Amino acid sequence: MKHVELECINCRTRIPLTKTVAGCPRCGEVILEARYDLSDLNVKQWRRELARRPHNLWRYREVLPILNPENIISLGEGDTPLIKSRALAASLGLKNLYIKDERQGPTASFKDRQATVAISALKELGVEEVVVASTGNVAIAYAAYCARAGIKLWSFFPSLTPNEKMREAALYGAEVIKITGTYDQTKELAAKFAARRGIFLDRGIKSVAAIEAMKTMAYEIAEQLTESVEISDNDPTRQEQQLWRAPDWFIQSVSGGMGPIGVGKGFRELYDFGIIDRMPKLGIVQSTGCAPMVEAFEHGQSIATPVENPQTVIATLATGNPGRAYELLYDYVSDYGGTFVSASDQEAFEATRVLARSDGISVEPATGVTFAGLFKMAQSGVIKPDDVVVVNCSGHTLPVELEILDEQWHRQFDLSTRTHGPTLPQEGLISALEQMSQTTRRVVVMEDNVDAARLIRRLMQARGAYEVSLAHDGATGLELVRAERPDLVITDLMMPGVDGFAVIERIKSDPELQQIPIVVITAKELTARERVWLNEQVDLLLQKGGSIDEELVETLVTRIE
Ligand SMILES: *Cc1c(COP(=O)(O)O)cnc(C)c1O
Ligand SMILES: [Zn+2]
Repeated sequence: MKHVELECINCRTRIPLTKTVAGCPRCGEVILEARYDLSDLNVKQWRRELARRPHNLWRYREVLPILNPENIISLGEGDTPLIKSRALAASLGLKNLYIKDERQGPTASFKDRQATVAISALKELGVEEVVVASTGNVAIAYAAYCARAGIKLWSFFPSLTPNEKMREAALYGAEVIKITGTYDQTKELAAKFAARRGIFLDRGIKSVAAIEAMKTMAYEIAEQLTESVEISDNDPTRQEQQLWRAPDWFIQSVSGGMGPIGVGKGFRELYDFGIIDRMPKLGIVQSTGCAPMVEAFEHGQSIATPVENPQTVIATLATGNPGRAYELLYDYVSDYGGTFVSASDQEAFEATRVLARSDGISVEPATGVTFAGLFKMAQSGVIKPDDVVVVNCSGHTLPVELEILDEQWHRQFDLSTRTHGPTLPQEGLISALEQMSQTTRRVVVMEDNVDAARLIRRLMQARGAYEVSLAHDGATGLELVRAERPDLVITDLMMPGVDGFAVIERIKSDPELQQIPIVVITAKELTARERVWLNEQVDLLLQKGGSIDEELVETLVTRIE
């Protein structure tokens, strides 16, 4: 029979997992960690067995705090795909960027992990009523699992929470209570209500279940990276020892901090089992308007000062008082490396657009913050090009934040007015559509990095009527220019065969082509002579090793007149 104890992270007192506890009975510490007696576990055999187990997070049941499998409430959560990024990775200059797609959970965020473990544990303990405070995703996930478990849920939301999220919790039968106040105030009120009524589930970091649930992401990532053929791992000792592969980085946007704390614990357990040989660094991202951890880290402090009035529209990340969670993350980063960065709401929205248009992944704003932070870490060189990076793609778009798209996001044609007869005004509609395509601008992009070229094309197409042709070498590019007479040529300098310099020379010496504006984008170190020559020939010279983003595309399209 499996044996689980809770251990106080402060005084190391151990208590059996037999009832719900609010903290350490001896010193009052609120964070307890689950400890498993795994002396009987044959790691080798366990790993072989894993291959045959169902693909949800309960495949790691030996290290989860449920004693009787019959109490497990599951909707098939966990085992989400680890998707290799191509276009976005190329634009950031990263070779091994992986997206852990937590959107694909039963309620579309990684809180499903927490819900399955927490609600199963409560079922095992015989609890019938639960109170939770949430900015949305936790309550939605708990509401779904509580419905299955027959447990009543009282969910408290701060007013910043989008109505769509509250409605979803209500659909699952949860009581929905909207509080006009901050998230921290909402938590306090919910705790008071719970003290009288029932059990307060969401103690944030204080919840054992949350940490245990989140750590399954570490187990999955290590298993999935090991199976990934794309990372060349030629180290013979690693292969011989049949180690699992830990990433160099785990990146996530953080509010309460349970995700990375749990993932850190997971990697630590794997390390202690001898299954991995390194600990990943943590990249923690917060919203600039609510970044107590980033503030503290930048000042070298191990304790964070709470933010009283978070200034962000991103409700999911509005924990102003991170409490003990920051101390744990600070310790982790001190021991194993990592960093804390912040990104503004606007940067998050832009990152959301770039991700959707480059890799086809649409995320909620909190996850946009993660990617905006990733961009900064890659651009500043904190993350190295060869590093294996895993990003927690923590939640889905629902609902698409108004601010993510500009006002021209659709074109409308009205078929209902003017004619009431059987004939639709088809002629008018077709000619309107044709006019639209006549204003299309043609662009030729010459760039030998296929992913970068495609990303430029996608970002331009997303901006409006641009028809973008790609060439991956100069000779093909020149053919395209001659055939298409584009409104703009964008070229790299270093290309196989006919290089960028030769391309520019030929266009500029051809009377029929010489008026076409040319933009050069290059990472090449230029000599003074090259620079002078280029400045005479081309309209714009962009020297960057940096990213291909909307700002760049904005600069490009202004060159078309
Ligand atoms: C909860 C949540 C976060 C923040 O996670 P924590 O680890 O609790 O700080 C980020 N993104 C999404 C989508 C979330 O639901
Ligand atoms: Zn204690």
